[in-house]
Amino acid sequence: MHFDELGLAPELLRAVTEQGYTEPTPIQAQAIPIVLSGRDLMGGAQTGTGKTAAFTLPLLQRILPLANASPSPARHPVRVLMLAPTRELAIQVHESVRTYSKYVPLKSCCAYGGVDIKAQIAELRCGAEVLVATPGRLLDLVEQKCLNFSSVQALVLDEADRMLDMGFIPDVTRIINLLPKQRQSLLFSATFSEEIKKLADRMLASPLLIEVARRNTVSETITHLVHPVAVSAKRALLVKLLKSNDF
Ligand code: AMP
Repeated sequence: MHFDELGLAPELLRAVTEQGYTEPTPIQAQAIPIVLSGRDLMGGAQTGTGKTAAFTLPLLQRILPLANASPSPARHPVRVLMLAPTRELAIQVHESVRTYSKYVPLKSCCAYGGVDIKAQIAELRCGAEVLVATPGRLLDLVEQKCLNFSSVQALVLDEADRMLDMGFIPDVTRIINLLPKQRQSLLFSATFSEEIKKLADRMLASPLLIEVARRNTVSETITHLVHPVAVSAKRALLVKLLKSNDF
């Protein structure tokens, strides 16, 4: 299959081609048509599968008819909200959003904790159709009254299992309650515990389920090896292995 068979807009395909991608990954081939159709989705996929493009490309396309080059912030309300568990992942997802939206007049913004909030507030005040954020900082921004969610039409919860591990589900639930009920929701998780399924029940409406990796397994690019070793020799062994490149 080729990217141009997925029904994506030429401006998005141009950005994809520029990245050197010719074929969609399995999660992209499955998820893109579903997201384009407006359905909710529960995606079982790990990092490295191409899941970021699988949700970013079709969501950009869905809001593309509303793209405009107006300098007025009011013409650039938040339409897509992407939640990520960590600052690193939020930055990475935002990087992808910027890459894929290069040829469309859609603005994006990234908000995460651990840095001064003022610069993020200033950026948000200029307007952004796509907001990538960590849950805690997003709620801080809500408290500062610099966010209006009334135009949000899609929510993405990325790495939901890590959100759960990090104790973010109460924050995520608060955020979901602030969003319009009429919206598209996508949840991605590498594993599907009972708790994740419960969250999915609350968040998604008649979702389609796609899975590209076996449940509860680590990525196939990772190999596990066990070296039985005395505690006192751990560091020396690690140094030896790193130097030998043989692990
Ligand atoms: P992700 O799983 O979204 O973190 O993506 C993993 C990596 O795969 C990223 O570095 C992407 O740039 C790359 N990637 C995404 N889609 C494709 C594709 N269709 N072909 C080749 N590489 C891709």
